[in-house]
Amino acid sequence: MASQELIKRLEETIENFPDFPIPGIQFKDISPIFLDPKLYEDVIADLVAFSKGKIDAVCGIESRGYLFGIAIAVALEVPFILIRKKGKLPPPIVSEKYDLEYGSAEIETREGQIKKGQRILIHDDLLATGGTTEAAAKLVEKQGAAVAQFSFLIGLKDLNGDQKLEKFGAEIYNILEY
Ligand code: AMP
Repeated sequence: MASQELIKRLEETIENFPDFPIPGIQFKDISPIFLDPKLYEDVIADLVAFSKGKIDAVCGIESRGYLFGIAIAVALEVPFILIRKKGKLPPPIVSEKYDLEYGSAEIETREGQIKKGQRILIHDDLLATGGTTEAAAKLVEKQGAAVAQFSFLIGLKDLNGDQKLEKFGAEIYNILEY
């Protein structure tokens, strides 16, 4: 959906750091996008076009999922819900545990912020293994809402994260794929 021109500008802007934070990881740093307000605006317009008319609320994944997620929600005039790491939100909360390469993690939302029957967009900056996003989708479904869409700035194809998300039957959109 994104124009070739937008894809090219993003490719030139996002910085790649091999072996950060650990050997074997190609870390994609999106922070230079925020040095270019026009580029930021164009990225938001692209993500908004993908979701327009298809969602009732946006769930953003801590923390880089907030940087674009809130702007998408405001543009579409729908609620934004924070999906946070364990222990940051006051009770009552709803939580979901998931496995990491070593050990496990947990994500949470405030109870009652996601409403039954809502069509939800789950947004994050980057889809890697899909573990975090899969847990976020389970957290949404647990609360009686449906995951309608997933959107990311970047999808790392080799890690097959989209296969983990197939079972939710939602549209998946990455502006860039590596
Ligand atoms: P995953 O659960 O493996 O899909 O990891 C997704 C989360 O980890 C996202 O919130 C990303 O911000 C972060 N992440 C994973 N891999 C990278 C990477 N290569 N570069 C930048 N961020 C990453």
